[in-house]
Amino acid sequence: MSVTDSLGRPTDRRTFLARSAKAAAVPAVAAALGGVLAGPAAADTTGLPDYAPIPPSALGPAVNAQGYHVGRVERNLYWVTDGTYQAAFLTTKDGVVLFDAPPTIGHNLQRAIDEVAGANGVSNKVTHLVYSHHHADHLGGSSLFGRDVERIGHAETRALLLRDNDPARPVPDTTFTDRRTLHIGGERIELAHLGTNHTPDNIYIHFPDHGTLMLVDINLPGWVPFDSFNLNEDVPGSVAAPAKALAYPWTHHIGGHMGRLGTREDMAVYQQYVADLIDGVKAALANVDPAPFFARYGDNEWAAVKEYQAAQTRYAAGPVVRKYTGVLAAADVYTESTAFVLLESIRLDLGVGSQVHP
Ligand SMILES: [Zn+2]
Repeated sequence: MSVTDSLGRPTDRRTFLARSAKAAAVPAVAAALGGVLAGPAAADTTGLPDYAPIPPSALGPAVNAQGYHVGRVERNLYWVTDGTYQAAFLTTKDGVVLFDAPPTIGHNLQRAIDEVAGANGVSNKVTHLVYSHHHADHLGGSSLFGRDVERIGHAETRALLLRDNDPARPVPDTTFTDRRTLHIGGERIELAHLGTNHTPDNIYIHFPDHGTLMLVDINLPGWVPFDSFNLNEDVPGSVAAPAKALAYPWTHHIGGHMGRLGTREDMAVYQQYVADLIDGVKAALANVDPAPFFARYGDNEWAAVKEYQAAQTRYAAGPVVRKYTGVLAAADVYTESTAFVLLESIRLDLGVGSQVHP
């Protein structure tokens, strides 16, 4: 079956599977990881494990020959993806407001904007660039838009970018601390910092007139988190983020990652996945006996701790992997590493399992 998207182009899942997944998405994510695509030291991949098939619901529309897909979110709000990363833009009567500039999408950001602006007879000039958070994998294309663009971000984003001193990510010109409503070209955008989560500076970008929330690196729609709970710096803050996201009115979620937009149902499934994993970790803290590990390794305390915590992590993750395989992509790939991060947070932040010497 072939269907067309809101811009009238075919979106055929088989095309995506044949072309994007192999040709575009893989190099994009490899580049994001700092990979050398045609390096001299080809790794031996024999003996690597097999993983469960990706549920078709995790995949998005096909990317084009240049390696991107641009689609309408609602009215004049659009999203761009390379299958792994996402940005968004709003066309206004005064120019274009861009939200994030992942380097993997790079020059395809302007191509996507040109395509939409050309089709609709509006300006393709990016006048504003809003930063979701300071990470290079979401902002490393910022400098492509030159010096005349007004960059807007959280005060902490500015502080972190001054620290990082990366010419690819110019610091924001305009900052805010708690909330800021932008009025640009007749459009309304609500920015909010609702506490730390993935990073100290990660913000909620709400489009009240477009039924959309952009919240990056929390829920990656259709997929379990990236390694070690998305590398979230504040674990309790990140666990709390989906409820804060769901408190906003919206229909569409731009998560910053992977090939499709998210729904409220996706956010709720993700929230339940994390809750299930926390339940599993608490059960592991109560039920996995450390004694055999310490008996086995004697004076080598780190060996005993490592194997004891690995057993706890397997105990916590096992039922969750079974429940979510076929529901969230890569449940069998990264759930254990996320369980380990949650285990440490529940132990150290919440104090669960701590015992005072009698
Ligand atoms: Zn990030």
